[in-house]
Amino acid sequence: MISIQHLSKSFGETQVLRDVNIDVSKGEVVVVLGPSGSGKSTMLRCINLLETPTGGRIFIEGEEITAPGTDVNKLRERVGMVFQQFNLFPHLTAKGNVMLAQQRVLKRSADEAERVAMEQLERVGLADRADFRPAQLSGGQQQRVAIARALAMDPHVMLFDEATSALDPELVRGVLDVMRGLADAGMTMVVVTHEMGFAREVADRVIFMADGVIVEEGAPAQVFDNPQSARTRDFLGHIS
Ligand code: ADP
Ligand code: MG
Repeated sequence: MISIQHLSKSFGETQVLRDVNIDVSKGEVVVVLGPSGSGKSTMLRCINLLETPTGGRIFIEGEEITAPGTDVNKLRERVGMVFQQFNLFPHLTAKGNVMLAQQRVLKRSADEAERVAMEQLERVGLADRADFRPAQLSGGQQQRVAIARALAMDPHVMLFDEATSALDPELVRGVLDVMRGLADAGMTMVVVTHEMGFAREVADRVIFMADGVIVEEGAPAQVFDNPQSARTRDFLGHIS
């Protein structure tokens, strides 16, 4: 589903990613862990070309997206992304937020966009909040609207970049439950998170990154209970 081959990325003189190789199968959930500044966000952003890689190649469903002439809008339909910040339009309702890109980008009719929006709001447990504006919703509910907005585009892959990091602790669970439901439904997901419980229970594979390289990867039980590298042990020791 995703093949990242020898990915590197520099900002000016600073090399942020070095020879990163990751393959993700259809339906697989990969959780990426690592200290702040290790390049996790940059790696995710390269997968939907929010950043342009400096070197290496990335394939989505067999198609090289790093080749010249890639249709970035088409790519982002297939690869949904959820950020720490929800970035909802404050003047639109939850439903309006979920409808917008469907109409603008996918050219769906208002009726069709509304039908899909209600279906996805139902899926994230917010059908009863469809007509609320973001300011009338909790942070967790806003993030679930952002997830519904991404899902409404019928993505084949979902990327999550610290989707719960901006939330009050009591609101984290609801968002993680939605993500777990997606995983159970077979969505291919790459998830950057500090939620170790989620990583342990939901991930098929855990990747530990530091300083722009993959230090270690494996099944969650292996990485958490028997980390091979001192760097991983140190990180896990500090976080739990
Ligand atoms: P993480 O998500 O693991 O915290 P990031 O991918 O956000 O790490 O950042 C990795 C490094 O790249 C950091 O040193 C950060 O300062 C740098 N960086 C990220 N984006 C930019 C940018 N647009 N311009 C310059 N440096 C950047
Ligand atoms: Mg980050």
